[in-house]
Amino acid sequence: MSDTALQDPGGPIPSSGSALDYDVVIVGAGISGMYQLHKLRGLGFKVLVLEAGTGVGGTWYWNRYPGARFDSESYSYAYSFDPELLAAWNWSEHFAAQPETERYLNFVADKLDLRRDIRFSSRVAAAHYEDAGRAWTVTLDSGERYRCRFMITAIGPLSAPTMPRIPGIEDFKGQSFHTGLWPKEPVSFEGKRVAVVGTGATGVQTIQEVAKTAKTLTVFQRRPNWCAPLHNAKISPEEQPALKARYPEIFQRCRETFACFLHTPDPRSALEVSDTEREAFWERRYNEPGFGIWQGNFRDVMIDRTANRMLSDFVARKIRERVKDPKTAELLIPKDHGFGTRRVPLETKYYEVFNQPNVRLVDALSTPIERITPAGLETGEEAFEFDMIIYATGFDAITGSFDRIDIRGEGGKTLKERWKGGPETFLGMMVEGFPNMFMLVGPHTALGNIPRSIEYNVEWVADVMRHMRDRDITYATTTPEAVAGWTETVRKAGEGLLSNEVDSWMTGVNRNAGKTERILARYSGSAVAYRARCDAVAAAGYSEIRFD
Ligand code: NAP
Repeated sequence: MSDTALQDPGGPIPSSGSALDYDVVIVGAGISGMYQLHKLRGLGFKVLVLEAGTGVGGTWYWNRYPGARFDSESYSYAYSFDPELLAAWNWSEHFAAQPETERYLNFVADKLDLRRDIRFSSRVAAAHYEDAGRAWTVTLDSGERYRCRFMITAIGPLSAPTMPRIPGIEDFKGQSFHTGLWPKEPVSFEGKRVAVVGTGATGVQTIQEVAKTAKTLTVFQRRPNWCAPLHNAKISPEEQPALKARYPEIFQRCRETFACFLHTPDPRSALEVSDTEREAFWERRYNEPGFGIWQGNFRDVMIDRTANRMLSDFVARKIRERVKDPKTAELLIPKDHGFGTRRVPLETKYYEVFNQPNVRLVDALSTPIERITPAGLETGEEAFEFDMIIYATGFDAITGSFDRIDIRGEGGKTLKERWKGGPETFLGMMVEGFPNMFMLVGPHTALGNIPRSIEYNVEWVADVMRHMRDRDITYATTTPEAVAGWTETVRKAGEGLLSNEVDSWMTGVNRNAGKTERILARYSGSAVAYRARCDAVAAAGYSEIRFD
């Protein structure tokens, strides 16, 4: 799929039934919605993007919590489709912080003149398919409606924040925030008694930052995660030209790796090398920037229990070396899952934070938070007083953003009902019974270094739509067989992966959202295999899509 498609003169798509307001409505103006708008507009489609926020950026608009930054190399994360965009933007750090990423996405929106087709402050409440008209009616929570042929969800896998189910949350008299709904106005921690609840990738970044200025910081940790050093650094102006010259190589590498990151696994087993060699290899990885220790490790550390145990022991030793108080160190070492089987938070002096006299770690597993009070919170053992409580308690991941919208397909069937037993999709982009609906970063698609997967999906969807327009096709759905086939592929791809034996957002578990059972939430196979499968479908004239 080349970008020459952008030159396509296009034309209006055929209409059946009463008038359409738009050819396409895209829900969400994050990384995927922005590129899908650009791509489809270039093909001549009349497109409207509906965005709940007041600006572009999606994840990078909402998650403006202190310390938010990339865990993927900035230059591997940016849009790759436009050489002019790549040439015009300089990343200041190898792992850029949220304000810079938000600026970057605004720069893209300006450069591609995207805003004229985006309606901000417009939260979509419902999207109903109308059989006779072969059209979607997308309704905002204000009641405004838009009728269109195609509806594309660009609503993100981590965009429905969840608050803990603890009584009394409304009673707290101090300031409180969820990290995923952080205010735009600056928030000061100076001189304040701050609590952070949650120690996922978000909590870890928040804690590092808050600990710098808070009078006291109390961290409520339920289950610890295995974290590894980020090793961030500035990119000097002198380095920029050489970095930009490497863009083709960088994106080629991302196309070749399992999860689109720059890091490639070592072909050896952790068990076939000598103890000295293994230790030296892990030492190197631990001291390198980024996800190398997770994505660039021995080939078997995520599938072989012994290899994973050895790696976990190595990282546990590091934690014990870095945290002075042995009891605190033990609390910070996960005991219920191995290294890398949940998303690895990357950190900058996270463990050292717990050596500071103003920081305390509370084990919220053995002494859960029982109640939020006007003055703070209570565990079974102790009452705490705080000026501020920060909830870094995560998201109703992958399907949560869909559940928040009343989506109804053919015959009025709801998507929620269709996915009652877990999501079922074709290639993670289509759902049987929901014609002319495409999903970007929906369930069962390749995730990993997400913009790389997004660009692929956006281009694939644009190609299907162009195929339809060129043939006067007004209806596209997938078949039960195709869905069953893809669901089985997703299941098989996850077989043997230790990460699928662990509760996390990746396996669909979020107790705050009432989701306690593991489901087949994401495609956990290789992105290379995913794209090959999608390419084969396209090359066969979209054999598993039923057109009319
Ligand atoms: P998360 O990984 O789901 O973590 C939520 C945390 O809140 C967990 O530690 C959880 O504990 C805790 N929690 C929830 N309810 C609680 C309660 N009632 N009492 C005590 N603790 C409670 O969510 P996240 O940290 O927001 O991260 C989600 C994903 O976003 C990441 O995995 C990553 O993919 C992405 N992310 C990316 C970046 C980046 O690229 N730089 C940064 C941040 C996040 P339990 O584990 O016990 O449930």
